[in-house]
Amino acid sequence: MSDTSQTSSWSYASAPENTDHIVLKEQYDLFINGEFIKPDSKKYFKSINPATGEVIASISEANKKDVDLAVASARKAFTSWSKIEPKERAKYIFRIARMIQERAKEFAIIESIDGGKPIRESRDVDIPLAASHFFYYAGWADKLEYAFPNKNPKPLGVAGQIIPWNFPLLMAAWKIAPAIACGNTVVLKPAETTSLTALKLAEVIQESGLPKGVVNIVTGAGKTGSEIVNHPDLDKIAFTGSTQVGKLIQNSIVGTQKKSTLELGGKGANIIFEDAAIDQAVEGIINAIFFNQGHVCCAGSRLFVQESVAEIVIDKLKDRMSSLIVGDPLDKNTDIGAINSKEQLDTINKYIKVGREEGGEIYQPTCNLPSNGNWCPPTLFLNVSQSHTIVQEEIFGPVLAIQTFRTIDEVIEKANNTPFGLSAGVWTEKGAKIFKLTQELNAGVVWANTYNKFDSTSPFGGYKESGFGREGGLHGLIAYLNVE
Ligand code: NAD
Repeated sequence: MSDTSQTSSWSYASAPENTDHIVLKEQYDLFINGEFIKPDSKKYFKSINPATGEVIASISEANKKDVDLAVASARKAFTSWSKIEPKERAKYIFRIARMIQERAKEFAIIESIDGGKPIRESRDVDIPLAASHFFYYAGWADKLEYAFPNKNPKPLGVAGQIIPWNFPLLMAAWKIAPAIACGNTVVLKPAETTSLTALKLAEVIQESGLPKGVVNIVTGAGKTGSEIVNHPDLDKIAFTGSTQVGKLIQNSIVGTQKKSTLELGGKGANIIFEDAAIDQAVEGIINAIFFNQGHVCCAGSRLFVQESVAEIVIDKLKDRMSSLIVGDPLDKNTDIGAINSKEQLDTINKYIKVGREEGGEIYQPTCNLPSNGNWCPPTLFLNVSQSHTIVQEEIFGPVLAIQTFRTIDEVIEKANNTPFGLSAGVWTEKGAKIFKLTQELNAGVVWANTYNKFDSTSPFGGYKESGFGREGGLHGLIAYLNVE
Protein backbone atom coordinates (compact mmCIF):
# COMPACT_ATOMS: atom_id res chain seq x y z
CA MET A 1 0.00 0.00 0.00
CA SER A 2 2.00 2.95 -1.21
CA ASP A 3 -0.21 5.50 0.54
CA THR A 4 0.67 4.06 3.97
CA SER A 5 4.26 5.29 3.88
CA GLN A 6 4.95 8.05 6.32
CA THR A 7 7.02 11.21 6.33
CA SER A 8 10.20 10.25 8.18
CA SER A 9 13.95 10.38 7.82
CA TRP A 10 13.91 7.34 5.56
CA SER A 11 11.30 5.08 4.10
CA TYR A 12 11.10 1.36 3.54
CA ALA A 13 9.99 -0.52 0.48
CA SER A 14 6.67 -2.17 1.29
CA ALA A 15 6.87 -5.80 2.42
CA PRO A 16 3.32 -7.16 2.28
CA GLU A 17 2.56 -10.60 3.68
CA ASN A 18 1.31 -13.03 1.05
CA THR A 19 -2.35 -13.93 1.61
CA ASP A 20 -2.84 -16.28 -1.38
CA HIS A 21 -3.02 -19.40 0.76
CA ILE A 22 -5.60 -18.06 3.21
CA VAL A 23 -8.92 -19.87 2.99
CA LEU A 24 -11.89 -18.12 4.53
CA LYS A 25 -15.53 -19.13 4.19
CA GLU A 26 -18.10 -16.57 3.14
CA GLN A 27 -20.29 -17.57 6.04
CA TYR A 28 -19.44 -19.02 9.46
CA ASP A 29 -21.85 -21.11 11.52
CA LEU A 30 -21.81 -21.89 15.23
CA PHE A 31 -19.51 -24.56 16.64
CA ILE A 32 -21.68 -26.68 18.92
CA ASN A 33 -21.15 -30.30 19.97
CA GLY A 34 -18.20 -30.70 17.62
CA GLU A 35 -20.13 -29.60 14.50
CA PHE A 36 -20.66 -26.35 12.64
CA ILE A 37 -24.40 -25.71 12.73
CA LYS A 38 -26.64 -22.95 11.41
CA PRO A 39 -27.95 -20.54 14.06
CA ASP A 40 -31.56 -20.91 15.17
CA SER A 41 -31.77 -17.12 14.81
CA LYS A 42 -31.03 -17.48 11.06
CA LYS A 43 -29.22 -14.14 11.48
CA TYR A 44 -25.69 -13.28 10.39
CA PHE A 45 -23.62 -10.14 10.80
CA LYS A 46 -20.57 -8.92 8.87
CA SER A 47 -16.98 -9.05 9.99
CA ILE A 48 -15.23 -6.02 8.48
CA ASN A 49 -11.56 -5.56 7.64
CA PRO A 50 -10.77 -2.41 9.65
CA ALA A 51 -7.90 -1.45 7.34
CA THR A 52 -10.06 -1.36 4.21
CA GLY A 53 -13.70 -1.31 5.28
CA GLU A 54 -14.32 -4.44 3.18
CA VAL A 55 -16.55 -7.29 4.35
CA ILE A 56 -14.49 -10.41 5.14
CA ALA A 57 -17.22 -12.90 6.07
CA SER A 58 -20.68 -13.31 7.59
CA ILE A 59 -20.80 -14.51 11.18
CA SER A 60 -23.74 -16.20 12.96
CA GLU A 61 -25.63 -14.32 15.61
CA ALA A 62 -26.47 -16.83 18.33
CA ASN A 63 -29.78 -16.37 20.17
CA LYS A 64 -31.06 -17.87 23.44
CA LYS A 65 -31.90 -21.24 21.83
CA ASP A 66 -28.41 -21.46 20.31
CA VAL A 67 -26.81 -20.70 23.66
CA ASP A 68 -29.11 -23.29 25.32
CA LEU A 69 -27.93 -25.88 22.82
CA ALA A 70 -24.27 -25.01 23.37
CA VAL A 71 -24.62 -25.19 27.16
CA ALA A 72 -26.52 -28.51 26.94
CA SER A 73 -23.75 -29.94 24.76
CA ALA A 74 -21.06 -28.75 27.18
CA ARG A 75 -23.02 -30.17 30.14
CA LYS A 76 -23.34 -33.57 28.47
CA ALA A 77 -19.64 -33.61 27.57
CA PHE A 78 -18.63 -32.67 31.12
CA THR A 79 -19.72 -36.06 32.48
CA SER A 80 -17.08 -37.97 30.54
CA TRP A 81 -14.44 -35.23 30.04
CA SER A 82 -14.15 -34.64 33.79
CA LYS A 83 -13.58 -38.36 34.36
CA ILE A 84 -11.18 -39.41 31.63
CA GLU A 85 -7.59 -39.99 32.62
CA PRO A 86 -5.98 -36.54 33.06
CA LYS A 87 -3.04 -37.58 30.87
CA GLU A 88 -5.56 -38.31 28.06
CA ARG A 89 -6.93 -34.79 28.43
CA ALA A 90 -3.38 -33.50 28.17
CA LYS A 91 -2.82 -35.34 24.87
CA TYR A 92 -5.69 -33.49 23.19
CA ILE A 93 -4.52 -30.13 24.51
CA PHE A 94 -0.93 -30.76 23.36
CA ARG A 95 -2.34 -31.69 19.96
CA ILE A 96 -4.28 -28.41 19.73
CA ALA A 97 -1.11 -26.50 20.69
CA ARG A 98 0.90 -28.22 17.98
CA MET A 99 -1.79 -27.63 15.37
CA ILE A 100 -1.85 -23.90 16.19
CA GLN A 101 1.93 -23.86 15.70
CA GLU A 102 1.65 -25.70 12.39
CA ARG A 103 -0.97 -23.21 11.17
CA ALA A 104 0.64 -20.20 12.85
CA LYS A 105 1.11 -18.20 9.68
CA GLU A 106 -2.51 -18.66 8.64
CA PHE A 107 -3.74 -17.67 12.11
CA ALA A 108 -1.46 -14.59 12.15
CA ILE A 109 -2.66 -13.34 8.77
CA ILE A 110 -6.33 -13.82 9.61
CA GLU A 111 -5.83 -12.09 12.97
CA SER A 112 -4.32 -9.08 11.21
CA ILE A 113 -7.00 -8.96 8.49
CA ASP A 114 -9.87 -9.26 10.95
CA GLY A 115 -8.53 -7.13 13.81
CA GLY A 116 -6.16 -4.63 12.20
CA LYS A 117 -3.04 -5.43 14.23
CA PRO A 118 0.38 -5.38 12.51
CA ILE A 119 1.40 -8.76 11.12
CA ARG A 120 4.69 -8.57 13.05
CA GLU A 121 2.71 -8.55 16.29
CA SER A 122 0.21 -11.28 15.39
CA ARG A 123 3.07 -13.41 14.00
CA ASP A 124 5.55 -12.85 16.86
CA VAL A 125 3.30 -12.28 19.87
CA ASP A 126 -0.37 -13.31 19.61
CA ILE A 127 -0.09 -16.67 17.90
CA PRO A 128 3.08 -18.03 19.60
CA LEU A 129 1.67 -17.03 23.00
CA ALA A 130 -1.67 -18.71 22.20
CA ALA A 131 0.14 -21.97 21.32
CA SER A 132 2.31 -21.63 24.40
CA HIS A 133 -0.76 -21.30 26.60
CA PHE A 134 -2.15 -24.61 25.33
CA PHE A 135 1.26 -26.28 25.79
CA TYR A 136 1.63 -24.91 29.30
CA TYR A 137 -1.81 -26.01 30.55
CA ALA A 138 -1.56 -29.37 28.79
CA GLY A 139 1.43 -29.91 31.07
CA TRP A 140 -0.66 -29.23 34.18
CA ALA A 141 -3.61 -31.51 33.25
CA ASP A 142 -2.21 -34.61 34.99
CA LYS A 143 -0.37 -32.74 37.77
CA LEU A 144 -3.21 -30.89 39.49
CA GLU A 145 -2.70 -32.84 42.70
CA TYR A 146 0.91 -31.65 42.78
CA ALA A 147 -0.20 -28.07 42.15
CA PHE A 148 -2.55 -28.27 45.15
CA PRO A 149 -1.20 -30.99 47.46
CA ASN A 150 -3.73 -32.54 49.89
CA LYS A 151 -6.50 -30.41 48.40
CA ASN A 152 -8.31 -32.83 46.08
CA PRO A 153 -8.84 -30.34 43.21
CA LYS A 154 -12.04 -30.88 41.20
CA PRO A 155 -13.32 -29.16 38.04
CA LEU A 156 -16.13 -26.62 38.44
CA GLY A 157 -18.35 -27.91 35.60
CA VAL A 158 -19.40 -25.84 32.59
CA ALA A 159 -17.82 -22.41 32.07
CA GLY A 160 -19.28 -19.55 30.01
CA GLN A 161 -16.40 -17.51 28.62
CA ILE A 162 -16.64 -14.08 26.98
CA ILE A 163 -13.65 -12.34 25.40
CA PRO A 164 -12.77 -8.96 23.84
CA TRP A 165 -11.41 -8.01 20.41
CA ASN A 166 -7.90 -6.84 21.19
CA PHE A 167 -6.12 -10.24 21.34
CA PRO A 168 -8.76 -12.54 19.84
CA LEU A 169 -6.97 -15.91 19.57
CA LEU A 170 -4.78 -15.27 22.59
CA MET A 171 -7.77 -14.45 24.82
CA ALA A 172 -9.53 -17.60 23.56
CA ALA A 173 -6.42 -19.61 24.53
CA TRP A 174 -6.22 -17.91 27.95
CA LYS A 175 -9.81 -18.99 28.58
CA ILE A 176 -10.06 -22.43 26.99
CA ALA A 177 -6.67 -24.01 27.84
CA PRO A 178 -6.78 -23.87 31.67
CA ALA A 179 -10.52 -24.64 31.77
CA ILE A 180 -10.34 -27.89 29.79
CA ALA A 181 -7.00 -28.91 31.33
CA CYS A 182 -8.79 -28.90 34.70
CA GLY A 183 -11.61 -31.09 33.32
CA ASN A 184 -14.25 -28.41 32.68
CA THR A 185 -16.15 -27.91 29.45
CA VAL A 186 -16.80 -24.51 27.91
CA VAL A 187 -19.04 -22.24 25.85
CA LEU A 188 -16.91 -19.39 24.52
CA LYS A 189 -18.06 -16.21 22.80
CA PRO A 190 -15.51 -14.12 20.88
CA ALA A 191 -16.05 -10.38 20.36
CA GLU A 192 -18.30 -9.45 17.44
CA THR A 193 -15.62 -7.59 15.46
CA THR A 194 -13.06 -10.40 15.69
CA SER A 195 -14.71 -13.83 15.57
CA LEU A 196 -12.60 -15.34 12.79
CA THR A 197 -9.60 -16.80 14.60
CA ALA A 198 -11.88 -18.31 17.27
CA LEU A 199 -13.81 -20.01 14.46
CA LYS A 200 -10.52 -21.17 12.89
CA LEU A 201 -9.61 -22.51 16.32
CA ALA A 202 -12.93 -24.39 16.25
CA GLU A 203 -11.75 -26.03 13.00
CA VAL A 204 -8.49 -27.03 14.70
CA ILE A 205 -10.40 -28.38 17.69
CA GLN A 206 -12.63 -30.41 15.39
CA GLU A 207 -9.60 -31.83 13.53
CA SER A 208 -7.84 -32.59 16.81
CA GLY A 209 -10.56 -35.10 17.70
CA LEU A 210 -11.30 -33.41 21.02
CA PRO A 211 -14.46 -35.11 22.33
CA LYS A 212 -17.60 -33.39 21.08
CA GLY A 213 -19.04 -30.67 23.26
CA VAL A 214 -15.91 -30.04 25.36
CA VAL A 215 -15.43 -26.71 23.56
CA ASN A 216 -18.38 -24.87 22.00
CA ILE A 217 -17.96 -21.53 20.25
CA VAL A 218 -20.95 -19.26 19.76
CA THR A 219 -20.73 -15.89 18.05
CA GLY A 220 -22.70 -12.69 18.45
CA ALA A 221 -22.61 -9.35 20.24
CA GLY A 222 -23.55 -8.23 23.77
CA LYS A 223 -27.03 -9.80 23.60
CA THR A 224 -25.51 -13.24 22.98
CA GLY A 225 -23.04 -12.53 25.80
CA SER A 226 -25.85 -11.79 28.23
CA GLU A 227 -27.64 -15.03 27.24
CA ILE A 228 -24.49 -16.84 28.35
CA VAL A 229 -24.12 -14.83 31.57
CA ASN A 230 -27.77 -15.44 32.55
CA HIS A 231 -27.87 -19.11 31.60
CA PRO A 232 -28.97 -21.05 34.70
CA ASP A 233 -26.91 -24.17 33.94
CA LEU A 234 -23.43 -22.64 34.05
CA ASP A 235 -21.03 -23.05 36.96
CA LYS A 236 -18.63 -20.29 36.06
CA ILE A 237 -18.47 -17.03 34.09
CA ALA A 238 -15.03 -15.95 32.91
CA PHE A 239 -15.14 -12.51 31.36
CA THR A 240 -12.49 -10.30 29.79
CA GLY A 241 -13.62 -6.90 28.60
CA SER A 242 -14.57 -3.44 29.77
CA THR A 243 -15.13 -2.50 33.39
CA GLN A 244 -18.57 -1.22 32.43
CA VAL A 245 -19.74 -4.62 31.10
CA GLY A 246 -17.88 -6.41 33.91
CA LYS A 247 -20.01 -4.55 36.44
CA LEU A 248 -23.23 -5.52 34.59
CA ILE A 249 -22.12 -9.15 34.61
CA GLN A 250 -21.26 -9.12 38.31
CA ASN A 251 -24.70 -7.68 39.08
CA SER A 252 -26.40 -10.35 36.97
CA ILE A 253 -24.74 -13.31 38.66
CA VAL A 254 -24.79 -12.16 42.25
CA GLY A 255 -26.84 -14.60 44.31
CA THR A 256 -26.36 -17.47 41.84
CA GLN A 257 -24.09 -20.53 42.17
CA LYS A 258 -21.84 -19.21 39.41
CA LYS A 259 -18.22 -18.49 40.20
CA SER A 260 -16.61 -15.67 38.29
CA THR A 261 -13.37 -14.10 37.20
CA LEU A 262 -13.36 -10.64 35.66
CA GLU A 263 -10.39 -9.31 33.68
CA LEU A 264 -11.28 -5.67 33.03
CA GLY A 265 -9.86 -2.34 31.94
CA GLY A 266 -6.72 -0.51 32.94
CA LYS A 267 -4.81 2.78 32.93
CA GLY A 268 -1.23 1.64 33.46
CA ALA A 269 1.43 3.97 34.88
CA ASN A 270 4.81 3.83 33.15
CA ILE A 271 7.43 5.52 35.37
CA ILE A 272 10.80 6.77 34.12
CA PHE A 273 13.39 7.71 36.77
CA GLU A 274 16.33 9.98 36.04
CA ASP A 275 18.76 7.09 36.50
CA ALA A 276 17.07 4.94 33.82
CA ALA A 277 18.81 4.00 30.58
CA ILE A 278 17.02 6.72 28.63
CA ASP A 279 17.13 5.27 25.11
CA GLN A 280 15.84 1.90 26.31
CA ALA A 281 13.17 3.66 28.34
CA VAL A 282 12.01 5.59 25.26
CA GLU A 283 11.67 2.31 23.35
CA GLY A 284 9.78 0.98 26.38
CA ILE A 285 7.37 3.93 26.30
CA ILE A 286 6.71 3.31 22.59
CA ASN A 287 6.06 -0.38 23.18
CA ALA A 288 3.93 0.30 26.26
CA ILE A 289 1.45 2.59 24.53
CA PHE A 290 1.63 1.95 20.77
CA PHE A 291 1.79 -1.89 20.78
CA ASN A 292 -1.46 -3.15 19.19
CA GLN A 293 -2.58 0.48 18.52
CA GLY A 294 -2.87 0.93 22.29
CA HIS A 295 -5.77 -1.58 22.34
CA VAL A 296 -4.16 -3.20 25.37
CA CYS A 297 -5.76 -3.44 28.82
CA CYS A 298 -2.35 -3.09 30.47
CA ALA A 299 -1.07 -0.34 28.10
CA GLY A 300 1.26 2.19 29.71
CA SER A 301 -1.14 5.02 28.90
CA ARG A 302 -0.04 7.29 31.78
CA LEU A 303 3.61 8.24 31.52
CA PHE A 304 5.41 9.71 34.54
CA VAL A 305 8.87 11.15 33.84
CA GLN A 306 11.18 12.46 36.54
CA GLU A 307 11.42 16.23 36.07
CA SER A 308 15.21 16.34 35.65
CA VAL A 309 15.07 14.16 32.49
CA ALA A 310 11.64 15.15 31.20
CA GLU A 311 12.89 17.40 28.42
CA ILE A 312 15.30 14.88 26.94
CA VAL A 313 12.83 11.98 27.26
CA ILE A 314 10.03 13.93 25.58
CA ASP A 315 12.31 15.12 22.76
CA LYS A 316 13.52 11.60 22.08
CA LEU A 317 9.98 10.26 22.33
CA LYS A 318 8.65 12.73 19.75
CA ASP A 319 11.55 11.90 17.48
CA ARG A 320 10.88 8.17 17.77
CA MET A 321 7.14 8.67 17.23
CA SER A 322 7.86 10.43 13.96
CA SER A 323 9.60 7.29 12.67
CA LEU A 324 6.67 4.95 13.44
CA ILE A 325 4.99 3.56 10.34
CA VAL A 326 1.20 3.66 10.49
CA GLY A 327 -0.67 1.69 7.86
CA ASP A 328 -1.38 -1.66 6.22
CA PRO A 329 -1.47 -4.30 9.00
CA LEU A 330 -0.20 -6.91 6.54
CA ASP A 331 2.97 -4.95 5.71
CA LYS A 332 5.90 -6.31 7.74
CA ASN A 333 7.24 -2.77 8.22
CA THR A 334 4.10 -1.49 9.90
CA ASP A 335 4.36 -0.42 13.53
CA ILE A 336 0.80 0.79 14.09
CA GLY A 337 -2.05 -0.91 12.27
CA ALA A 338 -5.75 -0.08 11.93
CA ILE A 339 -8.07 0.85 14.79
CA ASN A 340 -10.26 -2.19 15.33
CA SER A 341 -13.63 -0.63 14.50
CA LYS A 342 -15.29 2.60 13.48
CA GLU A 343 -16.90 2.75 16.96
CA GLN A 344 -13.51 2.48 18.69
CA LEU A 345 -12.04 5.14 16.41
CA ASP A 346 -14.94 7.45 17.36
CA THR A 347 -14.23 6.79 21.05
CA ILE A 348 -10.53 7.59 20.63
CA ASN A 349 -11.27 10.77 18.68
CA LYS A 350 -13.76 11.81 21.34
CA TYR A 351 -11.01 11.50 23.99
CA ILE A 352 -8.52 13.42 21.83
CA LYS A 353 -11.09 16.21 21.52
CA VAL A 354 -11.71 16.23 25.29
CA GLY A 355 -7.95 16.26 25.89
CA ARG A 356 -7.59 19.39 23.78
CA GLU A 357 -10.67 21.07 25.28
CA GLU A 358 -9.37 20.50 28.81
CA GLY A 359 -6.13 22.29 27.92
CA GLY A 360 -3.82 19.39 27.02
CA GLU A 361 -0.99 20.12 24.59
CA ILE A 362 -1.17 17.57 21.79
CA TYR A 363 1.64 16.17 19.63
CA GLN A 364 1.02 13.93 16.62
CA PRO A 365 3.72 13.30 14.00
CA THR A 366 2.80 13.92 10.38
CA CYS A 367 1.37 10.72 8.94
CA ASN A 368 0.05 9.90 5.49
CA LEU A 369 -2.88 7.82 6.63
CA PRO A 370 -4.65 5.54 4.13
CA SER A 371 -7.89 6.99 2.79
CA ASN A 372 -10.08 3.96 3.66
CA GLY A 373 -10.29 2.18 6.99
CA ASN A 374 -9.88 3.31 10.60
CA TRP A 375 -6.65 5.10 11.51
CA CYS A 376 -5.23 7.12 14.37
CA PRO A 377 -1.69 8.53 14.42
CA PRO A 378 0.44 8.01 17.55
CA THR A 379 -0.57 10.79 19.92
CA LEU A 380 0.78 12.30 23.11
CA PHE A 381 -0.56 14.93 25.47
CA LEU A 382 1.55 17.23 27.65
CA ASN A 383 0.30 19.79 30.14
CA VAL A 384 -2.18 17.42 31.79
CA SER A 385 -2.67 16.61 35.47
CA GLN A 386 -4.33 13.96 37.61
CA SER A 387 -7.83 15.41 37.19
CA HIS A 388 -7.84 15.43 33.38
CA THR A 389 -10.31 13.03 31.79
CA ILE A 390 -7.64 11.53 29.52
CA VAL A 391 -5.50 10.77 32.60
CA GLN A 392 -8.36 9.14 34.50
CA GLU A 393 -10.27 7.16 31.86
CA GLU A 394 -9.22 4.23 29.69
CA ILE A 395 -8.99 5.35 26.04
CA PHE A 396 -7.88 2.02 24.53
CA GLY A 397 -6.04 3.66 21.67
CA PRO A 398 -2.59 5.08 20.78
CA VAL A 399 -2.89 8.09 23.08
CA LEU A 400 -0.38 8.83 25.84
CA ALA A 401 -0.84 11.32 28.71
CA ILE A 402 2.45 12.61 30.14
CA GLN A 403 3.10 14.05 33.61
CA THR A 404 6.30 14.76 35.51
CA PHE A 405 7.29 14.06 39.13
CA ARG A 406 10.12 14.91 41.52
CA THR A 407 10.13 12.27 44.26
CA ILE A 408 9.48 8.57 44.51
CA ASP A 409 6.64 9.04 47.02
CA GLU A 410 4.99 11.60 44.77
CA VAL A 411 5.01 9.26 41.78
CA ILE A 412 3.68 6.32 43.80
CA GLU A 413 0.77 8.45 44.99
CA LYS A 414 0.05 9.73 41.48
CA ALA A 415 0.37 6.27 39.90
CA ASN A 416 -2.07 4.80 42.43
CA ASN A 417 -4.56 7.62 41.98
CA THR A 418 -6.77 5.73 39.52
CA PRO A 419 -9.82 3.49 39.80
CA PHE A 420 -7.85 0.78 37.95
CA GLY A 421 -5.08 -1.54 39.13
CA LEU A 422 -3.89 -3.76 36.32
CA SER A 423 -0.34 -2.89 35.35
CA ALA A 424 2.63 -0.56 35.77
CA GLY A 425 6.20 -0.17 34.51
CA VAL A 426 9.30 1.13 36.28
CA TRP A 427 12.50 2.24 34.54
CA THR A 428 15.54 2.68 36.79
CA GLU A 429 19.03 1.28 37.29
CA LYS A 430 18.39 0.90 41.03
CA GLY A 431 17.12 -2.46 42.28
CA ALA A 432 16.01 -0.91 45.58
CA LYS A 433 13.68 1.47 43.75
CA ILE A 434 12.24 -1.40 41.74
CA PHE A 435 11.52 -3.35 44.94
CA LYS A 436 9.91 -0.35 46.62
CA LEU A 437 7.64 0.33 43.65
CA THR A 438 6.64 -3.28 43.11
CA GLN A 439 5.58 -3.36 46.77
CA GLU A 440 3.72 -0.08 46.75
CA LEU A 441 2.06 0.19 43.34
CA ASN A 442 -1.50 -1.20 43.34
CA ALA A 443 -1.18 -3.16 40.13
CA GLY A 444 -1.50 -6.85 39.28
CA VAL A 445 1.63 -6.73 37.11
CA VAL A 446 4.63 -4.43 37.54
CA TRP A 447 7.31 -4.64 34.84
CA ALA A 448 10.83 -3.41 35.56
CA ASN A 449 12.93 -2.05 32.67
CA THR A 450 10.56 -3.65 30.20
CA TYR A 451 6.85 -3.46 29.37
CA ASN A 452 4.07 -5.62 27.88
CA LYS A 453 5.99 -8.85 28.42
CA PHE A 454 3.67 -11.85 28.69
CA ASP A 455 4.38 -15.45 29.58
CA SER A 456 2.02 -18.40 30.03
CA THR A 457 3.74 -19.33 33.28
CA SER A 458 3.13 -15.94 34.84
CA PRO A 459 -0.20 -14.87 36.40
CA PHE A 460 -1.96 -11.81 34.97
CA GLY A 461 -4.92 -9.93 36.45
CA GLY A 462 -6.00 -6.83 38.32
CA TYR A 463 -7.08 -5.06 41.45
CA LYS A 464 -9.84 -2.52 42.03
CA GLU A 465 -11.86 -1.79 38.86
CA SER A 466 -9.47 -3.88 36.78
CA GLY A 467 -11.27 -6.96 38.10
CA PHE A 468 -10.30 -10.09 40.01
CA GLY A 469 -8.93 -13.55 39.35
CA ARG A 470 -5.71 -14.45 37.58
CA GLU A 471 -5.00 -15.97 34.17
CA GLY A 472 -1.72 -17.73 33.44
CA GLY A 473 0.59 -19.71 35.66
CA LEU A 474 -0.46 -21.93 38.52
CA HIS A 475 -2.86 -19.18 39.66
CA GLY A 476 -4.77 -19.60 36.40
CA LEU A 477 -5.73 -23.14 37.45
CA ILE A 478 -7.47 -21.93 40.62
CA ALA A 479 -10.01 -20.09 38.47
CA TYR A 480 -11.26 -23.45 37.14
CA LEU A 481 -11.06 -25.71 40.18
CA ASN A 482 -12.78 -26.33 43.46
CA VAL A 483 -9.81 -26.60 45.77
CA GLU A 484 -10.99 -27.73 49.22
P1 NAD B 1 -16.61 -5.00 25.98
O1 NAD B 1 -16.83 -5.10 27.44
O2 NAD B 1 -17.42 -4.04 25.21
O3 NAD B 1 -16.88 -6.43 25.29
C1 NAD B 1 -16.18 -7.58 25.71
C2 NAD B 1 -17.03 -8.79 25.37
O4 NAD B 1 -18.24 -8.75 26.11
C3 NAD B 1 -17.43 -8.88 23.90
O5 NAD B 1 -17.39 -10.23 23.51
C4 NAD B 1 -18.86 -8.36 23.91
O6 NAD B 1 -19.66 -8.86 22.87
C5 NAD B 1 -19.35 -8.88 25.25
N1 NAD B 1 -20.46 -8.13 25.84
C6 NAD B 1 -20.82 -6.83 25.60
N2 NAD B 1 -21.89 -6.53 26.37
C7 NAD B 1 -22.21 -7.62 27.10
C8 NAD B 1 -23.19 -7.92 28.08
N3 NAD B 1 -24.07 -7.01 28.46
N4 NAD B 1 -23.19 -9.15 28.64
C9 NAD B 1 -22.28 -10.07 28.27
N5 NAD B 1 -21.33 -9.87 27.35
C10 NAD B 1 -21.29 -8.65 26.76
O7 NAD B 1 -15.05 -4.77 25.81
P2 NAD B 1 -14.24 -4.63 24.47
O8 NAD B 1 -14.45 -3.26 23.95
O9 NAD B 1 -14.48 -5.79 23.57
O10 NAD B 1 -12.74 -4.81 25.00
C11 NAD B 1 -12.01 -3.78 25.50
C12 NAD B 1 -11.96 -3.86 27.01
O11 NAD B 1 -11.42 -5.11 27.43
C13 NAD B 1 -11.02 -2.80 27.57
O12 NAD B 1 -11.63 -2.18 28.68
C14 NAD B 1 -9.81 -3.62 28.02
O13 NAD B 1 -9.06 -3.03 29.02
C15 NAD B 1 -10.43 -4.90 28.43
N6 NAD B 1 -9.46 -6.00 28.44
C16 NAD B 1 -9.02 -6.50 29.63
C17 NAD B 1 -8.07 -7.50 29.67
C18 NAD B 1 -7.55 -8.05 30.98
O14 NAD B 1 -6.92 -9.11 30.96
N7 NAD B 1 -7.80 -7.39 32.10
C19 NAD B 1 -7.57 -8.03 28.47
C20 NAD B 1 -8.04 -7.52 27.27
C21 NAD B 1 -8.99 -6.50 27.27
